[in-house]
Amino acid sequence: MKKEFAVIGLGRLGGSIVQELVALGASVMAIDIDSEKVDEFAQIATQAVVADTTDESVLRSLGIRNFEHVVVAIGENIQASILTTLILKEIGVPRITVKAQNDHHEKVLLKIGADQVVHPERDMGRRMANNMLSNNILDYLELSDEYSIVEVQANRELVGHTLIDLDIRAQYGINIVAIKRDNHLLVSPQAIERIKDGDILVVIGSDLDIHHFEKEILL
Ligand code: ATP
Repeated sequence: MKKEFAVIGLGRLGGSIVQELVALGASVMAIDIDSEKVDEFAQIATQAVVADTTDESVLRSLGIRNFEHVVVAIGENIQASILTTLILKEIGVPRITVKAQNDHHEKVLLKIGADQVVHPERDMGRRMANNMLSNNILDYLELSDEYSIVEVQANRELVGHTLIDLDIRAQYGINIVAIKRDNHLLVSPQAIERIKDGDILVVIGSDLDIHHFEKEILL
């Protein structure tokens, strides 16, 4: 069965989530209090509705309970974001993702039961800073406060060696979960896989271990 999504708040974040979900073939209800915003999405979303989502009866009348995953992308109006999340939770929406404006907002959202809180500017800032600090780290995805996945360019120290030779897991406590080679992704490479020039390694581990690996091997 196709997943049903609803996105509340059609600013830059909410709008791009709607566009991407639709492009990926999902069914999306786009909701905003501002009718001009809703008009913009009338041709894009599966359904576009003008509604004030701080009103419980309005949310119920939209059948919001039947959506598997609802995104609350209301930014500046923190009160509306919190109230909307609370109502969605009370109605029993299975999965709620909310955009937080700041750390206090995030704390409240988690307390009232948001399943996932995103902080786009902060998260992107962290990602950019990590990418900027290292010439070898091509991309960075934070999994938690301690763990990340990074993509690193294989260098001279690594090329020509097999994974078993390098013994990276025992030496550095990190795992190579995939190798990007010639536009292909080699997932869960075998221990006998030999690293080639141009390979990009997708590495998972604690930030400390990744940093250690980077300092010892990649610099
Ligand atoms: P972005 O950075 O993603 O552009 P933002 O942080 O600037 O977003 P806002 O523009 O404040 O966020 O809010 C996003 C949208 O949420 C707006 O289009 C606004 O009309 C809508 N919105 C605000 N309050 C409500 C509400 N009570 N019900 C439904 N939509 C709302």
